[in-house]
Amino acid sequence: MPFTKLGLSNPVLAGVKAMGYVEPTPIQLRAIPLIMAGQDVIGSAQTGTGKTAAFALPILSQLGQHPPHTRMLVLEPTRELAAQVETAIHDFARFSSLRTMVMFGGVGYGKQRESLKNGVDIIVATPGRLLDHMQQGTCRLDHVRFLVLDEADRMLDMGFLPDVRRILDRCPRDRHTSLFSATIPPEI
Ligand code: AMP
Repeated sequence: MPFTKLGLSNPVLAGVKAMGYVEPTPIQLRAIPLIMAGQDVIGSAQTGTGKTAAFALPILSQLGQHPPHTRMLVLEPTRELAAQVETAIHDFARFSSLRTMVMFGGVGYGKQRESLKNGVDIIVATPGRLLDHMQQGTCRLDHVRFLVLDEADRMLDMGFLPDVRRILDRCPRDRHTSLFSATIPPEI
């Protein structure tokens, strides 16, 4: 099944083509139709399987343009993963005018505050720094329509679950949720 049969938007298909992807990977084939149909998904998948595109392509296809609100939030356990995933999403979205930002700790707040002030459609964040911004009133999640919990078992291992719960409490209940995890322990 080619990417063109999955109901993805034209700008997203152009992004996929520019990335040189020819065929969807197995996780993409399974997750994309479910997310396009508005169903929440739990994916058991490791890094390297193509899971970033599995959630990003169908969500980007449904985002539309409603600036300046943040409508897609991706939580990642580490700054490296957050940076990597934001780069991928930015690449997939290159033929749309969607604005993305990455947010993690250990760096200054200035640039992140500036991006938030200008308005972003998509945030890829580690939980701690996102909570800092929320507490400082520089970031609101009340327009989030798509929430992605990536590498959920690693977030659990790193002790982020209480932070993740606090973030979930601040997202609208009426939203789409995707969860990806290499393993699915009971807490997840
Ligand atoms: P991920 O598991 O999302 O970290 O992706 C692993 C690598 O596979 C990344 O370098 C992606 O760019 C690449 N990739 C993802 N989906 C495809 C695809 N359908 N065809 C070719 N490469 C892909």
